[in-house]
Amino acid sequence: MDNPQRLLESPGQWDRKALATLLHSPDSPEKATRAHAAALARERTLAEFGKGVYIRGLVEVSNFCQNDCLYCGIRRSNQSVSRYRLTDEAILDCCQDGYRLGFRTFVLQGGEDPVLTDDRLVPLVASIRQAFPDCAITLSLGERSRDSYHRLRQAGADRYLLRHETADPDHYARLHPPGMTLASRLDCLQWLREEGYQVGCGFMVGSPGQTVDNLVDDLLLIREFQPEMVGIGPFIPARGTPFADHPAGDVGLTLFLLSLVRLILPKVLLPATTALGTALPDGREQGILAGANVVMPNLSPPDARDKYMLYDNKLRSHAEAAENLDDLRHRLESIGRTISVGRGDFGDSG
Ligand code: SAM
Repeated sequence: MDNPQRLLESPGQWDRKALATLLHSPDSPEKATRAHAAALARERTLAEFGKGVYIRGLVEVSNFCQNDCLYCGIRRSNQSVSRYRLTDEAILDCCQDGYRLGFRTFVLQGGEDPVLTDDRLVPLVASIRQAFPDCAITLSLGERSRDSYHRLRQAGADRYLLRHETADPDHYARLHPPGMTLASRLDCLQWLREEGYQVGCGFMVGSPGQTVDNLVDDLLLIREFQPEMVGIGPFIPARGTPFADHPAGDVGLTLFLLSLVRLILPKVLLPATTALGTALPDGREQGILAGANVVMPNLSPPDARDKYMLYDNKLRSHAEAAENLDDLRHRLESIGRTISVGRGDFGDSG
């Protein structure tokens, strides 16, 4: 059973050894293995969701952050970042624009900005819920207290994205400042689950110090936690961070991991991330052909897009811009796919 191509046929039997065999498969068969994985994952995605790809409108609410994650362009100690935060009114305007364009999920993402207290966020989420009753609200605002997750859920938030970043505590410590731990990240994910959110975890591919064993652990964690969403993108170096000169993550490996996640969790909502689109001109399409079924175009005001620089050259125009849905539509049509209207909750089909 150690033939990687044969192994791909039986994801139900993937244990640590099988995953290590797949991820370690040597150079020349590698390409064939990856192509085979993509074909199986694509087939599985089409069977679960049909040709439709879900769209989410991303609103980058603030690039202030109290954290100092070593990889991240908006980390607290990056002095070269020009900081901004959107007003509630601006955020609601973004949702309004998105609704008009056809978006039925809004993702509010930001740094861990101390100004984003519950007293500020709860009424904001409640007003979005009231103004757009047929839309899903996704939050991606980092680690918060259990009570905060509870209040935001009560106010109307449906989903929460919080990547675990790496399933290995030592690797986690290498990527984050003292005081941030994998244990607290996993507590947050568990609380979010218990509060009734659809939860997304995930990781970067090629983050400094990452080993193949780390990736095996990431996949095992994902299988155990059974998230409704998984975010995977290549690490891309960011100016002004300790990892600015570190090479970017491998795009082929990122695509392979997307395929493996699709085969492990056939119903998972799996975005072709902005980082993938940044790393490769047709990265978004390649991601979809490898098993992704979600894209998240940017609804933020242009000025904010320029400042929400998580990594160098982050894509923010063309098909990445929410107002250019036609561009995205054409790109999807070129690979035989369409945009799915609708909220696209976990468990929906097509
Ligand atoms: N503050 C929230 C959080 O930490 O979850 C949301 C924003 S955070 C910037 C969103 C994600 O961006 C992180 O989970 C991380 O995986 C990704 N990211 C940050 N820096 C990156 C980089 N240099 N390359 C690729 N992805 C990066």
